[in-house]
Amino acid sequence: MSRKILRKIVKNDEEKCDGCGACIPACPEGALKIINGKARLIKESLCDGLGACIKECPKGVIAIEEREAEPFELHTQHSNHDHETINVKEGGIAN
Ligand code: SF4
Repeated sequence: MSRKILRKIVKNDEEKCDGCGACIPACPEGALKIINGKARLIKESLCDGLGACIKECPKGVIAIEEREAEPFELHTQHSNHDHETINVKEGGIAN
């Protein structure tokens, strides 16, 4: 498990989320998934904290918070199906 750092990450008000799924394709990292009818962050390290999903939510229930979380890891997939993981260092996340 990765060392946690203080950084920006999405949070979703699950009480108000209706599970419409509009936020899912807005996240290129695939950090959000509908589970039991609610959008959930499936892995902290998949969220870049930039909030591309926020504007897609018709309910306005996604926000950015700053808290201790696993560092963002950029996962890229190459044509030979090898996975490369790039660790973004502390402070490397854009505001
Ligand atoms: S777009 Fe908003 S309401 Fe729809 S699933 Fe995502 S968080 Fe929930």
